[in-house]
Amino acid sequence: MTLLCERCYGPIDPAREDFYHLAHISHADRSGDVVWNDATVHSDPSCAVMAHADGAGRHRKAA
Ligand SMILES: [Zn+2]
Repeated sequence: MTLLCERCYGPIDPAREDFYHLAHISHADRSGDVVWNDATVHSDPSCAVMAHADGAGRHRKAA
């Protein structure tokens, strides 16, 4: 399975890169059980700049 960074959308190499594994609550099903979305993100704060110079991962101003 290829890990993708939630911040820069780039691939994460688990053998060579540091990353966090995150779990976000998605929703509760009919029985009340919580459904989770698992995600990964580079732990290097500059990952968005390195992978995407076109602005992906940057904060956007409200219109
Ligand atoms: Zn990243």
